[in-house]
Amino acid sequence: MKLMVIGSGGREHALVWKLAQSPQVTTLWCAPGNAGIALERLASNESLVETVAIGAEDLQKLLEFARENRPELVVVGPDNPLALGIVDVFQLSGFRIWGPNRKAAQFESSKVFSQQFMERHGIPTARAGAFTDPVAARKFAASLGGRCVVKADGLALGKGVLICGSEAEADKAIEEILVGQVFGQAGARLVIQEFLEGIEVSLHALCDGRTAKLFPTSQDHKRALDGDQGLNTGGMGTYSPAPFLTDAQLAEVGHAILDPWLKGCAAEGIDFRGLLYPGVMLTQAGPRVLEFNARFGDPETQVYLTRLENDLVELLEASVNGTLARHELRWRPQASVCVVMASDGYPGSYPKGKVIRGLEAAGRLKGTKVFHAGTARSGDDIVTNGGRVLGVTAMGRDLAAARAAAYRAVEKISFDGAQYRRDIAAKALL
Ligand code: AMP
Repeated sequence: MKLMVIGSGGREHALVWKLAQSPQVTTLWCAPGNAGIALERLASNESLVETVAIGAEDLQKLLEFARENRPELVVVGPDNPLALGIVDVFQLSGFRIWGPNRKAAQFESSKVFSQQFMERHGIPTARAGAFTDPVAARKFAASLGGRCVVKADGLALGKGVLICGSEAEADKAIEEILVGQVFGQAGARLVIQEFLEGIEVSLHALCDGRTAKLFPTSQDHKRALDGDQGLNTGGMGTYSPAPFLTDAQLAEVGHAILDPWLKGCAAEGIDFRGLLYPGVMLTQAGPRVLEFNARFGDPETQVYLTRLENDLVELLEASVNGTLARHELRWRPQASVCVVMASDGYPGSYPKGKVIRGLEAAGRLKGTKVFHAGTARSGDDIVTNGGRVLGVTAMGRDLAAARAAAYRAVEKISFDGAQYRRDIAAKALL
């Protein structure tokens, strides 16, 4: 089977690595990929994964490539091409493609859509309102005493969420988004949610339009620095399982969210075939959905796919075909921990082209996999090429062992200005 994966981050490296293990896959292209993806080999015939220099948002060029090379399944990693309607475009040309279509991808591409959908279908969420008028928005924020979260409607590179502790802060956030248009069209509308306290967990569910199969728990670390200090990032590390929910509690949370979500999708003619990733706050009053994403999390994918036993090609095929109900997800009992190594200055501006050393030594450690995110090849070297550079991932019999193994691997790797958190998964071990 010929496969094509779209994207270039740690998530896509994890997807490619897992898909390459399937005995069904005979050719695998990744556009645009990265230096680590280009080193992966297929289990079926030892051939290398081929990276293709086309950006994930260049739908026309991607389609031309697909017309020439006829992949039998296309797998989309990132949110932007999904929001642009890559699934609809490829389907119109007769390709099989995994991911939600444009209408279904609205769960991520529009926070106003998601919030209103949750309210229409009784999905537990924060008290919230959607606004285009700054006066009405300020009034609602004031009714919450200013303790609220102001969110730009559209995709804003993960920066469109402003947490406010006072009316003055909320007014400033509303002004910046609606009037100052700091996020452009993404901020033409906004959602204001009450500020919720609790433990945040990532849920993932593979969906086929009718069935949603819930993954185990994981937890991300969004802030740049230890102790959840510093700026918000794309994610500095993850671990799975997260010990805040028993299996029974997880199933209960899953039902509370996914049952009304599936019913709502059916009622509104939304055919979601892809990965639904709700961000959930476990509050004292019960679970509350903060937002939906419509693709795998990064770096959640790295810990999930190292634990997944199934053939991922079979699961993605079932998601496209609407036959997921026939499959059972099987997970290794071991824990997995991913520590992100980032460039100096990330999430602000950062240098590129720093030589990365120690990748082979780290890769030789048992139960360890170094996923590449922002890397590129420069002659014989592998160099940094992005903010998040590597997702150093290790398995262990429990979280403590996995964590120790991940940090042993991190210590073997170096590049100028490398920064990483020392406390990934520490919260789970208190
Ligand atoms: P979002 O992109 O909507 O998940 O928001 C990004 C981050 O902001 C989340 O991961 C939470 O840490 C925080 N956040 C979002 N909404 C809320 C809320 N209603 N209450 C507290 N924190 C929130």
